[in-house]
Amino acid sequence: MASPLLAETQSIVKQFEFTDDDVNKSVREFLRQMDEGLEKDGTSLSQIPTYVTGVPTGKEKGLYMAVDLGGTNFRVCSVKLNGDTTFNITSDKVAVPKELMVAKKAEDLFAFLAQQIKKFLEKHHGDHFEAHIRRRMTVSSPDGYKDEHVFRMGFTFSFPVQQVGINKGTLIRWTKGFDIPDAVGKDVCALLQTEIDKLHLPVKVAALVNDTVGTLMAHSYSSPGSQGSILGAIFGTGTNGAYLEKLSNLKKPLVGEYDTSTGDMVINTEWGSFDNQLNVLPNTPWDAALDKETPNPGFQMYEKRVSGMFLGELLRLVINDLMKKPDVSLFRDENSSTNDRRSTTDIAETSGIWKAWGVDTSILSHAAGDHTPKLSVLRETLQETLQISAPAFEDAQAFKAIAEAIGRRAARLAAVAIGAVVLKSGRLADPERADDTVNVGVDGSLVENYPYFEDMIYEALRAIEGIGEEGAKRIRIGLAQDGSGVGAALIALVAAGAEKNAPTEEILSELRQEARATAATAAVSDESDQVGATHSA
Ligand code: ADP
Ligand code: MG
Repeated sequence: MASPLLAETQSIVKQFEFTDDDVNKSVREFLRQMDEGLEKDGTSLSQIPTYVTGVPTGKEKGLYMAVDLGGTNFRVCSVKLNGDTTFNITSDKVAVPKELMVAKKAEDLFAFLAQQIKKFLEKHHGDHFEAHIRRRMTVSSPDGYKDEHVFRMGFTFSFPVQQVGINKGTLIRWTKGFDIPDAVGKDVCALLQTEIDKLHLPVKVAALVNDTVGTLMAHSYSSPGSQGSILGAIFGTGTNGAYLEKLSNLKKPLVGEYDTSTGDMVINTEWGSFDNQLNVLPNTPWDAALDKETPNPGFQMYEKRVSGMFLGELLRLVINDLMKKPDVSLFRDENSSTNDRRSTTDIAETSGIWKAWGVDTSILSHAAGDHTPKLSVLRETLQETLQISAPAFEDAQAFKAIAEAIGRRAARLAAVAIGAVVLKSGRLADPERADDTVNVGVDGSLVENYPYFEDMIYEALRAIEGIGEEGAKRIRIGLAQDGSGVGAALIALVAAGAEKNAPTEEILSELRQEARATAATAAVSDESDQVGATHSA
């Protein structure tokens, strides 16, 4: 006879089912919302043009720099693209000091960032750095200072910006604990360039980069023999995707300058907010409860069902509800004889299970990955991470079943976005590409670590009309590591390419002029600055 716990668990699992029909209905709605976003502003999928007009082939070559200002860290790297789909990367990471996150002036934060770039150059590119400084001091020869001696740098900036050019974008608002009102409305690339110039560093901020675009570029570069990837997708703290769209499909007005020769543009979908109106997204009582707990109820509704920041909390809410049911015994024993450990289960008061956001999504991975006959691994994890002592086998079974239902629904929802973009690309239906692989790059702890996440995505892809068994076989999902390093470097390269079409002479003479001015100043008084730049550690 089924226990009340088992019966309740089965009923919950059922509520998290997302059928093949649901998947197909959602794909159609996703495509509709994609088109809507290409036509006008203010839609649920923002479909933001990135001014990146092509993806790499793997043949790109050169030495580029990349920096990444995320929520907590600032990462500086140099990337050597070898031109054969491989690369070498050198990187340093520092925590952004808390006081700078709320600095009075934008300058304070950006000066700190420039300092880190300087330190990085001195440490890892000393030769280049010193030669550069020397050249700046000896501009009497016309060749003394050349554009190509300047590192092109991609700037990954993970805050909302209104991008108006490949290296131009104004900050809309700060998130993730940053608050420097002075910077809002300003061009973040210019803010950084100004501070770089004050230190006379041989660096040009060539591109402003979104992390999904970086993922797309990095994956495209390293996928051998491909015509490039069509999508870069993140399933980490949040979820988002960037894909290659035909310029002709982009109906809303596009300000600023961009290269039209490829006929394509990478679009940042901001798909975390897909279907905020809940036309097709599932909405269990726990989804609704979770949404209410967030600072932005009604927004990012897709993300709240898919990404790492939310799945642990969803599971916590379900488990709490289940524990409250009088006839269900979950993490609770009549006496030690009803527990296969011959003990009684106890949950510490300090357990994360009692606190909103107290359960990390990684426990879903532990649950899904435990195939031991008595679920001893999961029970150990429950004990260690949630201070649930002596959980019974039945408890762990129920916990695992619910966690898997939530994880499986997330993966099937992820397949909706991926499947829709694949269909939108037209690649599967193109008779000239009938044998080609369709590459999709993914990144993020969830897709990287959740067992079978990718397999569950494929299972749903096979069920999508227009993809099917045959189509799914041609879709190759691959991890794109170092999106914010390699990807940003590649975008800097694309940007540098676009510069060449621009008046190179103008850039050169501008730089020469600037170098002359700098050298003149240095010669008159500011020796210490130059010496310091060359020799300080
Ligand atoms: P970010 O999105 O900030 O770049 P990550 O890609 O590392 O960072 O994603 C972090 C998110 O992934 C967090 O929400 C965390 O709970 C979740 N996460 C971390 N480890 C795992 C895991 N093993 N399984 C599932 N989710 C995980
Ligand atoms: Mg990330």
